[in-house]
Amino acid sequence: MAKLTPMMEQYLRIKADYQDAFLFFRLGDFYEMFFDDAIKASRELEITLTKRDGGKEEPIPMCGIPYHAAEGYIKNLVEKGYKVAICEQVEDPKTAKGVVKREVVQLITPGTVMESTMLNERNNNYIASLSHFNDSSFVVVYCDLSTGESRIAHFSSDFDRVIHEFYNQPIKEIVVSSNLPEELKKQLTDKLQVTLSYQDEVTFNGEYRNICENLNDERLIKAFSRLLNYIQYTQKRSLDHLQQAEIIELDHFLSLDMYSKRNLELTETILKKGRHGSLLWVLDKTVTAMGSRMLKKWIERPLLDKIQITNRLDAVQGFYQAFMEREELRESLKSVYDLERLAGRIAFGNVNARDLIQLKKSLKRLPGMKELLASIDNNQINHLANLLEYPEDLVELLENSIMEEPPISIKEGSIIKDGYHEQLDKYRYASRNGKKWIAELEQKEKKETNIKSLKIGYNRVFGYYIEVTKANLHLLPEGKYERKQTLTNAERFITPDLKEKEQLILEAEEKSVELEYTLFTEIREKIKIQIPRLQSLAEVISKIDVLQAFATVSEANNYNRPTFTDEKLQVKNGRHPVIEQVMDDGTFVPNDIVLDDEKSILLITGPNMSGKSTYMRQLALIAIMGQIGCFVPCDEAQLIIFDQIFTRIGAADDLVSGQSTFMVEMLEANHAIAHATERSLILLDEIGRGTSTYDGMALAQAIVEYIHDHIHAKTLFSTHYHELTALDESLSKLRNIHVRAEEYEGNVVFLHQIKEGAADKSYGIHVAQLANLPDKLIERASIILKQLESDDASVIQSPPVESNQLSFFEEAVKEENKLTSVPNEKELSILNALDNIDLFDMTPLEAMNELHRLQKIVRKKVITK
Ligand code: ADP
Ligand code: MG
Repeated sequence: MAKLTPMMEQYLRIKADYQDAFLFFRLGDFYEMFFDDAIKASRELEITLTKRDGGKEEPIPMCGIPYHAAEGYIKNLVEKGYKVAICEQVEDPKTAKGVVKREVVQLITPGTVMESTMLNERNNNYIASLSHFNDSSFVVVYCDLSTGESRIAHFSSDFDRVIHEFYNQPIKEIVVSSNLPEELKKQLTDKLQVTLSYQDEVTFNGEYRNICENLNDERLIKAFSRLLNYIQYTQKRSLDHLQQAEIIELDHFLSLDMYSKRNLELTETILKKGRHGSLLWVLDKTVTAMGSRMLKKWIERPLLDKIQITNRLDAVQGFYQAFMEREELRESLKSVYDLERLAGRIAFGNVNARDLIQLKKSLKRLPGMKELLASIDNNQINHLANLLEYPEDLVELLENSIMEEPPISIKEGSIIKDGYHEQLDKYRYASRNGKKWIAELEQKEKKETNIKSLKIGYNRVFGYYIEVTKANLHLLPEGKYERKQTLTNAERFITPDLKEKEQLILEAEEKSVELEYTLFTEIREKIKIQIPRLQSLAEVISKIDVLQAFATVSEANNYNRPTFTDEKLQVKNGRHPVIEQVMDDGTFVPNDIVLDDEKSILLITGPNMSGKSTYMRQLALIAIMGQIGCFVPCDEAQLIIFDQIFTRIGAADDLVSGQSTFMVEMLEANHAIAHATERSLILLDEIGRGTSTYDGMALAQAIVEYIHDHIHAKTLFSTHYHELTALDESLSKLRNIHVRAEEYEGNVVFLHQIKEGAADKSYGIHVAQLANLPDKLIERASIILKQLESDDASVIQSPPVESNQLSFFEEAVKEENKLTSVPNEKELSILNALDNIDLFDMTPLEAMNELHRLQKIVRKKVITK
């Protein structure tokens, strides 16, 4: 049997260690991939698949990319969640005996990318680890390698909470041990769409002692080590910028489950998954990328501590009032570079002199900023000013060492300033002196030979030379010059003196370039030691930026400062912060809300499209804005500090995990009921819609009753089940409110105004009319509605089905075919389901799903009585 070539053997040996990555195998100017890697890469990257003889009969599938274009391809693969192992030639092919030695120098994974082109500057890029322990507790760690921050949290048992914690975070990769139960692995990949990586061997590395210093629990250390071990293994470079892991005490923050994060569209919208249209989008008036990243973290972790909230609000108020200072501050923030990511790059050793100039310029902004902040009459802001410590020594170092406009390359000199280093100055003196001598020589030779066009030039091959045009050659004295090169019109000569000087100049230049590089790396090392200082500065600046952003957005959008109490929540003329921004006509209708212990449940009725969902989300968003320390969209707000917010809003189908709408509804409702306390806020929006009318209604009622009797959480409950409004008779803490709509010339006009009491009528049919359904159909529906309304609708039992009542569907059929038949229960339920569809509240995909569901029911059995 034919044997593989030695190179292919080498390939397979290396590939064996990187099974789950694309192996980019360096061959001359290309990275090549072979076998399955090649087949898969050619598909993912749309590059041509070729073949190569590998020694066996069958040629080997292969594809390749030029090494200089690799970054784009790597980015493409990593964004898709793949890993890429870069395998380089680690010895000079010219001197190598046999196959050139190759090694994997870096494993690029979604969570470990550092290249700025692969990172979004306003988003973090986390790699996380999850460790599970015998007592069924979990520890979660996440780390942003580009900024060096890391966080760690301990979960006593509930894996659901782990998923809720991870959800919506920019986590690209999770490191786990391979014996994590399959079911949990599956949940991680299905629900979070992350790349899983494995690290089984966990050893504590003494090098990281100081960043683990604050971890007082074996489990925390073990979990952090798992992540660090993995990073060490993949990255093979310095991680000096990693900061101490910040322990997240989960019960110090308002907890938002994954459904709330999604439904409230805090940082991205449900449908497009983009920032635009989210709360973050409205609030992000930060100037720096660092600030923007911090804002996102604040939105995802609102505070519970009244003092902390008040401190933030105080600062926001200070910035709000100090308009001129705020504008000036925003102006200076514009020239502050991303210090956090810069610190990361310094640690990784890939900064150039231009970065250091940017660093210097950023730092030089600090004294001015500090003075500005100190001049504002506000304790919180003055406190922040105090934290802005000017690293004078660092600025001085940069000022003295780095030239103002250095080149991108750090290997070609022109980086270090004169006067910084004595030996460098000497080389430069020698070189400059030599050049001066040459300039003088040119003048002297011109004069002596009387050749005006004589000149001294330089090229890489011949060095310095004296050039004389052919016409003037006869003027040269004999013997003094040595001919070196002949051109068409001129001859080039050298002299021993010239060569001697040349030697000095070149040597000095070469040495000075080398020395500059050494000096630059020394400076970089000196700055590396200062990384923690840069990181704390970055944190203070980010905080200042977010607080000024709150002031800026509060002023621009007319928000007001909330107060906090324990008794009564009261918002006057509240608005939905996002919808009011996207409505171009500026006609958002503000509404009040009151919730207290006496009346803690609001049951909201009103026609579709009237504004029920908006009203509910509005309260949640106002609560969150208040608890992150921002002013809120209303005239006056007295808020309660909520410990958790739960939501079940709209008919958003959980398409990703493939569960049915009703199942999702029940999961979300269950999650709320299982975890809410009396200090929580629950929003249940049209719960029970996902199933046939009467089970849905029964469940909805049971849920309200349960919350009323056992949980006592503040609750907003919207429903299209009119029957539920009668609950205010049996549930003392329930209050009916409705969204007002008026009928005008047979059409419904939405006023979006919240009023006391239950809505008196369903306007669904009018909405259908607005949607241009046939007149005949609308007429029939009105008749049916009247009949249904005249029934004694009982909440607990399904109203009896009128067996001789015809659906408008059948009425139409009867008209056409003169057939007589009576609808059965199934038909009625389909018709009911059709009637209950909120066309305005559905995406086309949701509509398709609903239609498909109904069709399935119809097709199951031929409808017969
Ligand atoms: P419902 O849940 O009652 O079906 P929504 O809350 O989804 O209604 O609101 C439907 C639409 O009505 C929203 O998309 C918005 O355009 C508009 N709307 C809702 N509330 C208001 C309001 N207070 N002021 C102005 N327009 C509103
Ligand atoms: Mg709604």
